[in-house]
Amino acid sequence: SFQKSKGQHILKNPLLVDSIVQKAGIKSSDVILEIGPGTGNLTKKLLEAGKQVIAVELDPRMVLELERRFQGTPFSNRLKVIQGDVLKTELPRFDICVANIPYQISSPLTFKLLFHPTSFRCAVIMYQREFAMRLVAQPGDNLYCRLSVNTQLYARVSHLLKVGKNNFRPPPKVDSSVVRIEPRKPGPQVNNKEWDGFLRVCFIRKNKTLGSIFKQKSLLLMLENNFKTLQALLASLHNNGEAAATHLADHSMGIEDDDNEMDDDDVDMDDGEGETSEFKDKVMNVLKEGGFEEKRASKLSQQEFLYLLSLFNKSGIHFT
Ligand code: SAM
Repeated sequence: SFQKSKGQHILKNPLLVDSIVQKAGIKSSDVILEIGPGTGNLTKKLLEAGKQVIAVELDPRMVLELERRFQGTPFSNRLKVIQGDVLKTELPRFDICVANIPYQISSPLTFKLLFHPTSFRCAVIMYQREFAMRLVAQPGDNLYCRLSVNTQLYARVSHLLKVGKNNFRPPPKVDSSVVRIEPRKPGPQVNNKEWDGFLRVCFIRKNKTLGSIFKQKSLLLMLENNFKTLQALLASLHNNGEAAATHLADHSMGIEDDDNEMDDDDVDMDDGEGETSEFKDKVMNVLKEGGFEEKRASKLSQQEFLYLLSLFNKSGIHFT
C-alpha cells in the first residue's frame, strides 16, 4: 500500500517526542534538518527548540498538511519544507539532524549523512531496533557486523532510547530505538572505497578466520589482478607517464549496501583452498606479520582493521 511503501508511522506519544527533543540537545541557534516530518508532531517541538527547521518530505499530501498546520503561526517563517526523496535531495547546511525516518532508507540515509560535505554536530535518529543495535555493536557482540565497523569509523554512535511499537500509529511490526550519531572530526585518514572493499572481504563470513577467507582462489585472483594493474600503472608512470590509467579496472563497490554478509558458520567456502602461489604467500605473510591468520572479523576492533589494511597497502595489496 501507499502508506506501507513510505513507512508512514506517525509518532503519537507526546512524552516520547519531548524526550527525543530533549536528548538531542538542541540549541536555540540551531538549524535543524528533519527527514520525513509527516504530519509534524516532531517538527513542532523542533521549531520550539531551535532557530530553523528544514524538513524533507516525500509525500506531497504530508507537505500540504504540514504547511497548513503551521500557517499563520509564529513558526511558519522558521520552517522550510522541501518536497522530495531525501536520498536524491542535495542536503542544506545544518547543525543537527533529528528524524523519525522510514526504516527502508536507514542504511543509505545514514551513509548520506556520514558523507555530508559540510560538518554538523550530530544526528539523532529513530531506527528499527535491530538496525540500531547493529550500529552500536562492539567487537564480539552478536550483531557486530560491517555496518558497525563502517559507521563507527566515521562517527561515534550511542544508543539513546528504546521505543516500543505502540508509540506509533499505525504501529510498525518491530520495536525501535533512537540513536545518536556524532561525526568524528577530523574524519578518518582512509580511502573510503579501499576501506569498504577491504571490510567486504573480511566480512564475507564474519566467523571464519581471516586465514581461511584469504585462501579463497577467486579472492586471491581479484587481489592479484588489482596488484598487477597497480604495478603496471606505476611502472608506466615511471617510464612515460602515459595513460596507463585507462587499464585500471573499476572494482568499486557501493558502501550503502550493507546487508549481504552471511553470519552462518556452516557455509562452505566457494572455491578451493590449499593451492600455493607466490601471490598467495605474499597475502599470507601479511596476515602472519600482523598475527591475523587465526582472527575473525566478528572479534576485530576498528583499530585492528585499520592496522591490517595498512599492512596490506604497505605490501602493495589493494581492495579497490
Ligand atoms: N516524523 C513523523 C512522525 O514522527 O510522526 C513521521 C515519520 S514516518 C516514520 C516517515 C515519514 O517519511 C513519512 O511522512 C513519509 O512520507 C516520509 N518519507 C518516506 N520516504 C521518504 C524519503 N525517501 N524522503 C523523505 N521523506 C520520506
